[in-house]
Amino acid sequence: PESVPRRHGVRLPPDTTREAFDEAIDALRQALGPENVILNDKPLVDGWYLEHPNTHDAFHLVDQEDLVSSATAYPASTAEVQAVVRWANEFGIPLYPISMGRNVGYGGTAPRVPGSVVVDLGKRMNKILNIDAGNASCVVEPGVSYFALYDEIQKRNLPFWIDCPDLGGGSVLGNAIDRGVGYTPMGDHFGAHCGMEVVLPSGDLLRTGMGALPGKDGADNPTWQSFPAAYGPYSDGIFSQSNFGIVCQMGFHLMHATGHQSYMLTFPRDEDFPDIVEIIRPLAQKSILGNIPQLRHVVQELNVTGQPKTHWYSGSGPLPREVIRQHASRMPCGDCAWVFYGTQYGDEAAIKAQLDIIDSAFSAIKGYNFFLPSDVPPDHYLHDRVLVCSGVPVLRELDWLNWKPNAAHIFFSPITPTRGKDAKIVHEINVRLHAKHGIDLFPTLCIAGREMHYITNIIYDRSSNDEKRRVNTLMTELIAETAREGYGEYRTHLLYADQVARTYNWNDNALMRFNETIKDALDPNGIMAPGRNGIWPKKYRGKGWEL
Ligand code: ADP
Repeated sequence: PESVPRRHGVRLPPDTTREAFDEAIDALRQALGPENVILNDKPLVDGWYLEHPNTHDAFHLVDQEDLVSSATAYPASTAEVQAVVRWANEFGIPLYPISMGRNVGYGGTAPRVPGSVVVDLGKRMNKILNIDAGNASCVVEPGVSYFALYDEIQKRNLPFWIDCPDLGGGSVLGNAIDRGVGYTPMGDHFGAHCGMEVVLPSGDLLRTGMGALPGKDGADNPTWQSFPAAYGPYSDGIFSQSNFGIVCQMGFHLMHATGHQSYMLTFPRDEDFPDIVEIIRPLAQKSILGNIPQLRHVVQELNVTGQPKTHWYSGSGPLPREVIRQHASRMPCGDCAWVFYGTQYGDEAAIKAQLDIIDSAFSAIKGYNFFLPSDVPPDHYLHDRVLVCSGVPVLRELDWLNWKPNAAHIFFSPITPTRGKDAKIVHEINVRLHAKHGIDLFPTLCIAGREMHYITNIIYDRSSNDEKRRVNTLMTELIAETAREGYGEYRTHLLYADQVARTYNWNDNALMRFNETIKDALDPNGIMAPGRNGIWPKKYRGKGWEL
């Protein structure tokens, strides 16, 4: 990922002349201080996870210079965010707020409308505003990463866990409002939040939940991080995966540390898949499975070692099943097809009782095997699951990117009920279309109870236009075919936001008409992240922006 000389100069916002843009930038510099507004006019550098750019999508799937900002603004406070939003309304320039921008695989820091001004909240708004040990909760600004929250809890010696996604460098707040997931019993990140402070597209300031009721003598409301709803409609949901505001503070519940035991199960045959899901369903519904466990295809045992694809296979095209089998049979997982990573919680006796139930349920599958961390070598992935599933952030999954040179990845993430027949339909579409386009299939199912996030990580070489084109076609076909069967994505890369939003079209697009009604009421000038999640303000609609 080296820097490439820019072919074009600064990408201006739509319908903006260079003179008007310069005048607007001068005004923004006056509001924030000149050092806090940076033009995007240097060569674009893709960097890597911990040194990621905020100028474009580092995992570009189209031309690197397509999804770029015109400039980045760094506000330091909610009042400065309000000033930026008022500025955008005055000059008619679209904004694109990010927290830390480690939204890798979904568009990163890139704005949907090229030439938008990225509002990077992470750099200067990175305070943990409160940790309330009595209430087991915290309040964070957008720039607080999982690592930072974890470190602070350790420093204060508090008995809490955090819940992180596979990679711990992202924003706690950003991931939650994008409805990301983690792996402890508190893996539903948006579900674990309690109260927010939001700058609306008008510049007005809103507190949701009990925060709407002023505390005594101007204090924050004492129940703000205890009770998520307020009185009347529950408004928080409309600020997740949307472009209705900039979230500047968010409260979260923290989990109490407890005993834990991670384990790995293996199942021998590819076709066991629907039966495994059928066994999982009641265990998940009854909360016998302690966390959000993962069911992965065995190919990921190869990938997650961090070895490049060429280490396993010298041919072109996807790894053949037989080659995966040969390698797996020499690894701890053995010659198997599916691998399940779970964790149980509680005291020793409780964990033992849970594991007995789990073991006896999965014994129905012939050839099933059970492994504890002590059964596998110290560098095995199971040890990283032990950490993530007990609230310790890690970076192990970066090893995915060793798979090929210049590797980037994108996720295809449909939701299915936790039911064998549904999971099989979605899985078979993936198998068929990945093979059609000659791309390795890496499915991981994150099981939350009644539903599963079926997530495939599609890895491609950023320097190959042919691979990018094939991945793009694969994505659009996957979205279309799964939707035809009635399944939809929970989240998607910027480039597919319109297509995915269009699949949620019941009753003449009632949902999108509802979203557009809210958008037009809150953001009449269309300055807030136009196009995010397929929601376009009136000014942009039907003018060729939709993909
Ligand atoms: P993370 O660093 O956890 O991956 P990001 O900053 O990439 O999170 O956020 C994911 C997406 O959510 C962003 O692309 C942006 O569209 C939206 N977003 C992030 N933070 C905010 C915020 N504070 N207010 C509004 N939208 C946000």
